[in-house]
Amino acid sequence: MAPTLIYIFGGTGDLAHRKLIPALFNLYIDGYLPGPFTIVGVGRSKIEESTYRAQMRKSIKEFARRSELTTKYWSKFSKNITFQTHDLNSDKSYKEMAAGWKAFQEEHGKESQIIFYLSVAPQLAPVIAKRLHGHRLCHDPKRSRMVFEKPFGHDLASAQELNVMLGKLFREEQIYRIDHFLGKETVQNILALRFANALFEPIWNANYIDHVQITAAETVSIESRGSYYESSGALRDMVQNHVLQMLCMVAMEAPISFEADEIRNKKLDVLQALRHMRPEDVHRYAVRGQYGPGWSKGKKAAGYRQEKAVDPQSNVETFAAVKFYVDNWRWKDVPFYVRTGKTLAAKETLITVQFRPAPDYAFPDEAAHTWRPNRLVIGIAPKMDIRLRFQAKQPGPSMTLRPVDMVFSYASRDEEDCQPEAYETLLQDVIEGNPTLFMRADQVEAAWKAIQPIMEVWGHKPPVDFPNYTPGSWGPEDAEALIARDGFNWATLPEV
Ligand code: NAP
Repeated sequence: MAPTLIYIFGGTGDLAHRKLIPALFNLYIDGYLPGPFTIVGVGRSKIEESTYRAQMRKSIKEFARRSELTTKYWSKFSKNITFQTHDLNSDKSYKEMAAGWKAFQEEHGKESQIIFYLSVAPQLAPVIAKRLHGHRLCHDPKRSRMVFEKPFGHDLASAQELNVMLGKLFREEQIYRIDHFLGKETVQNILALRFANALFEPIWNANYIDHVQITAAETVSIESRGSYYESSGALRDMVQNHVLQMLCMVAMEAPISFEADEIRNKKLDVLQALRHMRPEDVHRYAVRGQYGPGWSKGKKAAGYRQEKAVDPQSNVETFAAVKFYVDNWRWKDVPFYVRTGKTLAAKETLITVQFRPAPDYAFPDEAAHTWRPNRLVIGIAPKMDIRLRFQAKQPGPSMTLRPVDMVFSYASRDEEDCQPEAYETLLQDVIEGNPTLFMRADQVEAAWKAIQPIMEVWGHKPPVDFPNYTPGSWGPEDAEALIARDGFNWATLPEV
């Protein structure tokens, strides 16, 4: 790998502390960072390099997957970390960075590459892009890349505008739009499960699959991110990106190769096949919720409207459930139910594929009580496993049945420790120049397009019942009704 200079814009921020620097540390331990590399944290804060390093060491101790190795590797790793105070609106900063890049190349050779990770508020992205271009910091498409954090745009129009602007300044292959869910082992494993096994693909269609569910539930509130959440909400924050990407992995056609564009084309096909919702139908397909005050783990918990930096009259949703249809041959009339929310009953992200019920004519009437359709449940996080539910005969003289789970688990503690964190996988891909797991411009826009009608209707019609769920519940009653109307109920993981 070529010598690499990595600028982390927002180097003093939450993401850099909790995810980026710990991920780079783990990549270093595993030998995945290039020979010579330098990480430059950037922020407006005036801090000394030694202070910054000390802060990063603390973050690694607290958040890195193998924090116990901090002492062993820190002194070597930290030699590659530095900090620079810059205002990213100011030209002067980019002049200094251009000088830094020139010096890096002089020291390490012309093959060196430069990466800018924009871990800053999305409003800064356009000005940063213009300045990077103006100062020729990304003029070589083979040796310079930019990583854009989510949210990429605020709606379809703003995402298009940003894409057009970036398209004028850079090549698409330099632009890495990150969706960290795609870096998760369990999400990537969906491709292996579907396309490396002869078992599933022949029945992976509307003839055999009844419906699909995706749950991305969090137990935490919005915590200290009130100002961000007020301009976002559950639909923008989770559905537009992570949830729809998981849906694409389940619904996409088999790729003919694992080339970046081949995978991305197949996913784009799914997004483009999502049934368009007419405004008058949105209430039948989508449900929103907001948590009120209540109790969480025996302690009083504030409602969303009482959180810091939140408008006491806010109508922003902290829960969203949507029924999608993928209008193509494979998925004709198969509903995809998705839900996501804050302060819910359990922290779990899972995908449930429910197969059509088998005919039960031959079995005695008692069997009907325990008759369950087959289900494939893919635990994405924090539980990482795959469960196949099937019917088995209960031991004894009569033909009574019971559902049993066959489980593949990444469970042993040791194995879990070996799993790279999503940000490790993704940062390694950026360094190696592999965009497969990143969103292309057209994918991002197609995802915004899919939820645009919901955003518009919700934006125009204030909710009449907010707050409508309590912390520790599974969200508003309407979300239960959304799926119950079709004769199903939301799946959760079995409690251990
Ligand atoms: P944050 O904690 O608010 O950090 C923002 C960073 O931006 C700080 O380091 C701040 O540095 C820097 N900054 C702001 N204005 C600047 C300027 N004019 N010049 C230079 N630096 C400036 O934000 P965050 O939570 O790390 O999030 C960063 C990005 O990642 C956002 O786009 C967010 O949506 C996305 N993201 C975050 C998470 C997460 O878990 N945190 C998850 C997914 C996506 P100073 O304070 O030193 O100026």
